[in-house]
Amino acid sequence: MRFPIAQLIACAILLFTTETTQAAPPERPAVSIVLKHGREGWTADYTFRKSAPVWFFQRSKDSIDKVQWRLASFNVVTPGVALSRLGNFDALYRSDGRPLRHVRIRVTPFSRPLRSDYAPALTFYDGGLAFYTHHFVVSPLASVAAAKALSASPDWDAIADAPATLTVRDKGNRLLVRGRVVEDAATIPLSGPDTYVYVGSGPLVATDHFAEIVDPGLPVWVRGQLDAFLPRLMEYYTERLGVPSGSKPTALIAWEGAERPGMSIGGSVMDRLVVMGVSGRKMLEADPKTFATLRAFFGHETSHFWIGQTLQYSKPEEGWITEGSADVLGIRATQHLVQDYDPHPKLQQEMDDCLKLNGAGKPLSSAESRGDYKAQYACGALLVLAAEAALKREDASADALTFVRKLLDANRADGVITEADWLATFSQAAGPIVSSQVREFIDHGVPDPRSFWAGLFEATGVRFVPDRDTLRLLDGGRGP
Ligand SMILES: [Zn+2]
Repeated sequence: MRFPIAQLIACAILLFTTETTQAAPPERPAVSIVLKHGREGWTADYTFRKSAPVWFFQRSKDSIDKVQWRLASFNVVTPGVALSRLGNFDALYRSDGRPLRHVRIRVTPFSRPLRSDYAPALTFYDGGLAFYTHHFVVSPLASVAAAKALSASPDWDAIADAPATLTVRDKGNRLLVRGRVVEDAATIPLSGPDTYVYVGSGPLVATDHFAEIVDPGLPVWVRGQLDAFLPRLMEYYTERLGVPSGSKPTALIAWEGAERPGMSIGGSVMDRLVVMGVSGRKMLEADPKTFATLRAFFGHETSHFWIGQTLQYSKPEEGWITEGSADVLGIRATQHLVQDYDPHPKLQQEMDDCLKLNGAGKPLSSAESRGDYKAQYACGALLVLAAEAALKREDASADALTFVRKLLDANRADGVITEADWLATFSQAAGPIVSSQVREFIDHGVPDPRSFWAGLFEATGVRFVPDRDTLRLLDGGRGP
């Protein structure tokens, strides 16, 4: 890769400060959980202050290889207490039916992916670990029969509330919680957003606006590239879009070994945190294509700290707003940071995907319920191209970040972006007539999508030429 590695880290790395305090947990929670590392490994001690004979784990999805992971990972050592799958959920209960008071569980971290849920743990090559907090959440029930009767997606409003805290303790080690470094122990209220808590001694790279722990076991070339790219990406987003709300954005990147052939990249993004696990023999060799994949992942995912978290959509039908923006932000940021990066193939792919997946008469707002998730990304991205081209007519330096900054400024107060909010900002740039045509496309669909896009691009200034059943974008999708 032609990448200016030398110039990077000098400005990016600051020494982190150690935090010894954290937000006070709510007073006497109904359940306190202490997850502690000791000589015999990890143990979780549950203390229940609310009286109930059964406590079930709200998140009980199996692993993708169909293992009931909690039963494999949690070993109850308190006599008379059982952990088993009751109906759809894992549950703790006493065989004599009395209420639970204290339960000790030996925990073997489980790091394989789950079906539609976060991996319980992320394991680092140097022994570091990150635990997903909300797999520890439990709720009370009146009986074993009540647990067995719970449907797979129960009415959560009808489940009794039991505020809980999770304390993670590992003496002599460092924890990273929501962008803050803490020595020895940290307490997290489980009523708040979910996250991963990192425990270990991996090196932390921290800037004013970003913190990351990259597994020391990660092949040196990937590590160098990530250390070069990620802090600069976050600086650039922050400079253009402002400081995102909430805690400092953080990345945890784990190396899971080269035992298997090929390569595997798994990642997810949650409240101000992006986590990624990479593995496979192919990762050992420096390869620009592999790194481009990682870059695209981070470009898209970290932009959600702004569009997706600082601003959230009001319903899943509006996913085109957050996903389309994230795609184009990632592309434009990469164009800014990486010399010789060619945005065209990815943008052309958006064009082709949108035409294919959001055909005649299909409203973009129904893409989610139709299961055409990719249409939200692709068509959402094209709408951002139209917005940035329209802005360019007033200001030649405007791009997708300029448009998203306008969305942020207009909607930061309530933290929500609706279709109407998006169209209001779009209309300021492109005018009300074009804006109402876009609304039609989103709400009801159009009879001829290809001519809809051609008309929209002509009206806003996105350069293209018609090409068989698609439109070929010119100039990397930018206006003149
Ligand atoms: Zn996304």
